Amino acid sequence: MQENKERRRVCVKGIVQGVGFRPFVYNLATKHQLVGFVTNTPDGVEIEVEGLPAPLNAFIRDLKTDTPPLADINKIIAEPLVLVGDTSFTIQTSEILGHVTTLISPDIATCKDCLAELFDSEDRRYQYPFINCTNCGPRYTIIENIPYDRPQTSMRHFTMCEECRTEYDDPADRRFHAQPNGCHVCGPQVSLADSKRKIVAQKSEAIPQAIEFLQQGKILAIKGMGGFHLVVDATSDTAVSRLRQRKGREEKPFAIMVPDLQTAQNICQLNDEEKQLLASCQSPIVLGLKKKDHGIAESVAPHSDRYGIMLPYTPLHHLLFASDLKALVMTSANFTEEPICIDNEEAYERLGTIADYFLTHDRDIYLSSDDSVVLWSAGKTRMVRRSRGYAPRPIALKNDGPPVLGVGGELKNTVCFLKDQQAIISQHIGDLHNLEAYIFFQKTISHLKRIFETKPELVVHDLHPGYLSTQWAKEQNELPVLAVQHHHAHLAACLAENQIGGSAIGLIMDGTGYGADGTIWGGEILIGDCRTFQRYGCFEPMPLPGGDIAIKEPWRIAAAYLYKAFDGTIPDLPFLQGQDYEPVLEIVAKNINSPLTSSCGRLFDAVAAMSGGRQFINYEAQAAIEFMQAGNGIADQPFSFEIEEDNGIVKMSVRSIIQSVVQTLRDGSSQAEISQRFHRTLIDLLVEMASKASNETGIKLVVLSGGVFQNHILFEGLICALEKTGLQVVTHSEIPTNDGCVSFGQAVIGREHLLN
Ligand code: ZN
Ligand code: ZN
Ligand code: FE
Repeated sequence: MQENKERRRVCVKGIVQGVGFRPFVYNLATKHQLVGFVTNTPDGVEIEVEGLPAPLNAFIRDLKTDTPPLADINKIIAEPLVLVGDTSFTIQTSEILGHVTTLISPDIATCKDCLAELFDSEDRRYQYPFINCTNCGPRYTIIENIPYDRPQTSMRHFTMCEECRTEYDDPADRRFHAQPNGCHVCGPQVSLADSKRKIVAQKSEAIPQAIEFLQQGKILAIKGMGGFHLVVDATSDTAVSRLRQRKGREEKPFAIMVPDLQTAQNICQLNDEEKQLLASCQSPIVLGLKKKDHGIAESVAPHSDRYGIMLPYTPLHHLLFASDLKALVMTSANFTEEPICIDNEEAYERLGTIADYFLTHDRDIYLSSDDSVVLWSAGKTRMVRRSRGYAPRPIALKNDGPPVLGVGGELKNTVCFLKDQQAIISQHIGDLHNLEAYIFFQKTISHLKRIFETKPELVVHDLHPGYLSTQWAKEQNELPVLAVQHHHAHLAACLAENQIGGSAIGLIMDGTGYGADGTIWGGEILIGDCRTFQRYGCFEPMPLPGGDIAIKEPWRIAAAYLYKAFDGTIPDLPFLQGQDYEPVLEIVAKNINSPLTSSCGRLFDAVAAMSGGRQFINYEAQAAIEFMQAGNGIADQPFSFEIEEDNGIVKMSVRSIIQSVVQTLRDGSSQAEISQRFHRTLIDLLVEMASKASNETGIKLVVLSGGVFQNHILFEGLICALEKTGLQVVTHSEIPTNDGCVSFGQAVIGREHLLN
């Protein structure tokens, strides 16, 4: 039999270090009765296995299919070797390498095995709030430097006890080289304090006491994996309202956490994919449709037909729900659009006026990471916010190339490094208006640069001269910079995510972005690729009276659009009653502080406001979201619309749409009907534009990007209509369609410029 044996070298690349990959290989090889060894190398994991061909093949097959949850294999290369005749299978430690290129895994939800131990009264980690193993727990948020080793993480302050050390050193153990390993004896501990920092309860008493406070309707600041949450009982309207009042957040929906999938299903209508997403090791917030009689307080997500819902993802969360708590509001602990709070001291300072109690612990969070938000739409997972659980997992690129950094836009900022054949997109950084966010932005850039060992040759920024990200890029004296138009970045991001090298027609329906002509763009038909673009068409530019204030008060946009559509007169519509609109019309007439915009988002705002929707908004896109929900469908009949050539650009007339909306309102149509017809209008209009562009250029590929496509009714309807006309449609899935994708698009365009 000996002569039938074979030996193979198997190289595995991807996220394969610090994720329990070697113990997994060891167990797999042992199971298949193979001999040889496994070791970490600078590019991944190398295995040499020897045995009979059938088990060898089974081993390689299982390597791909039974992968540990945190591992992500990019490539497996197998080649034959001569027989060596080892007597066993061993794990070779890699310390000697000194330098290891590890792809750092995101933070991962508590695994099944750890959960079983957490609630096993016989286990030494029974009810230990920081239980973890190589298959779960914190990673990205606790790493300060590479290689990923305990002294380089915020676990370095904890010395493992003998039992933990034995697990850590045992190649066959689930905790072999699990850097955050710890237990009641040696690991991090929780404590509960009031807002004056006076300790109320510690260790095993802290969590039961925290549960009691939550049951009493108190507001808790709870330190989680990627930062602090503000937490209240989601079934208590009084508690939720107090939180809203103290946080200064009027209506923007709060995310909720529920103990298990069954409870989630009682609250939201969930399909199989949504259930899978909820229970996945990334454990994101899923935007699920509300059911009736869900028992959740009305104030959690007023005027919304969905809940952002998630399941417990740390042992601490699981322990909180080992009580009769049914649902908790879990919202990022910050004031609006500031980064999530991570530091204990900082928490008391920033949240002292909001939270009644603080459930903290002594494991530091090095880098914050918000909860990710996903939506299931048009048959795929759509990232709304890509952060904890997903970042910094690389996105695979079609080609290799020089290292580049994209610094993103102003809102929903992320940064992106291209390294080799991968894009590393940061966690959600937020809106770069305030100093905290700007500091976080800089910290994230230097952190990613360090842990991914990359030195960009080019920094790419937005065309807008005033953005903090643009200014930062220009301050990097030693590096060349490139300015990229916002919507071109959207187009390139979608092409690159789908690994498409050629040209496409980009339907970029967005809020705002600085245009190549200095006006505000946002409803763009671009033709281009990852290098250049041409503005084929856009919405007819309309005035934005007062600039930013109009975005917060959509009635102003409606008034201005009406004024333009009716040539300086304004039709008498109910929404204008009691509104002091004369000054608005005056600044439009005199062209004072009324920049022109072709934004699709603003058109939504205008039509929503004039048909009786939101006149003032409390959070971004509220008018458009509620307007979409009011109709919740697509009519057969569009409003009348026109397209016309103007200076070589095809303009989609906004005036004709507004006139038609007004006529329909006068005929007594409801807001719901207006909403449905407006969605039909946009779909028909965009299909016509895409077909026209396709006929003229011969391009059959259409890219959809931009924040407006978070509107799933428009998104699904448009994909369907475009495909019916024979066009091929590509969309975002792994990265957001909103401005979270801009840094990636910038970096991709930058690399093309270096290559050509
Ligand atoms: Zn685990
Ligand atoms: Zn221990
Ligand atoms: Fe955008």
